[in-house]
Amino acid sequence: TAPLAELDPEVAQAMAGELARQRDTLEMIASENFVPRAVLQAQGSVLTNKYAEGYPGRRYYGGCEHVDVIEDLARARAKELFGADFANVQPHSGAQANAAVLMALMNPGEKLLGLDLAHGGHLTHGMKLNFSGKLYDVESYGVSKEDHRIDMDEVRKIAVAAQPKVIVAGWSAYPRHEDFAAFRSIADEVGAYLWVDMAHFAGLVAAGLHPSPVPYADVVSSTVHKTLGGPRSGLILAKQEWAKKLNSAVFPGQQGGPLMHAIAAKAVSLKIAGTEEFKDRQQRTLTGAKILAERLTGADVVDKGVSVLTGGTDVHLVLVDLRNSQLDGQQGEDLLHEVGITVNRNAVPFDPRPPMVTSGLRIGTAALASRGFGDEQFTEVADIIGTALAGSSDVETLKSRVSKLAADFPLYEGLEDWRLI
Ligand code: PLP
Repeated sequence: TAPLAELDPEVAQAMAGELARQRDTLEMIASENFVPRAVLQAQGSVLTNKYAEGYPGRRYYGGCEHVDVIEDLARARAKELFGADFANVQPHSGAQANAAVLMALMNPGEKLLGLDLAHGGHLTHGMKLNFSGKLYDVESYGVSKEDHRIDMDEVRKIAVAAQPKVIVAGWSAYPRHEDFAAFRSIADEVGAYLWVDMAHFAGLVAAGLHPSPVPYADVVSSTVHKTLGGPRSGLILAKQEWAKKLNSAVFPGQQGGPLMHAIAAKAVSLKIAGTEEFKDRQQRTLTGAKILAERLTGADVVDKGVSVLTGGTDVHLVLVDLRNSQLDGQQGEDLLHEVGITVNRNAVPFDPRPPMVTSGLRIGTAALASRGFGDEQFTEVADIIGTALAGSSDVETLKSRVSKLAADFPLYEGLEDWRLI
């Protein structure tokens, strides 16, 4: 019964440090967000104690009457939000969701066609050290050298030659909409299943600000913690005909007991994702990314050999191309860290630098939109980043501009008092 700070001061202190970091700096990692207080409460709850292998109404453990209500709510909300026939909300993470999807759709040794990791794909879409690359026979498509966009004619050619069992669309680093109808037509042409991993842009889809893959794909997977703004976890949506296979691929195929505290937090965040406030937040996320892309194509930045992949963005992130810049990805990440902005370095397509260094930065606006940023604040943060990347040596001024923005938009006020609910 002792409070955390008393029982385990070392962990408590590191947690306090992380809270201070989130408050005092500007979070622009494109895969991160700030969850609402209600989501933290659901996740930090007694539900963490409960085992509930199986599915609502068909559990392998007793005492599941309350967690059944929660999982049913989460499933119903996921289906309604995205207009899907079927939802499984048990995956512990995006990677686990994807493992289950692959297990349901294909057998080891069969062919998977996905976006190359080096061109913005995810590890679970066939990277050779990942289970997906080890278990399946992987072919990749990439972006074109000219405009860094996915060329659907090229995807069609590769698919016709490869005859994959599954085609995966979706990405971890790609700043444009994908053509889901074209993916569907290619899948139909070669007799493949279409899986879309919408982990990054699910929040935009929920808000109606991004084309939905649900009508086109056999199966859609997602994380819940990126633009969708919920707890770290995954979910799967599908046409009803896939329900049985997917459920059994998640449990017992890939996982044991579901994390009911995470599922409760998912239910809460899926409720929030249906609100007007959420839509407004997604709109500010999009506008913020456009403001950023515009600033980073300004003359002072371009003069330093810095550019923005595809010249702009349709989504919540901007990919900065440093291939012609003195600055590499690591240095860019460090420079922005020094002024108080957190981003991640990211390989760009055809990157000449090694993967631990890279020639790119991936900068996202979802977390700051959740913090309340609108046009004015995004214009300011975009200018701070632009000025830094254009080589300003006045780091102190940039730092104080960051501190002012952070102070103007307080985060988790009063958290110290209620986190031990
Ligand atoms: N799918 C995509 C497209 C992603 O970008 C990510 C995370 O980066 C994942 C899946 C994996 O999610 P997780 O880190 O929860 O396993």
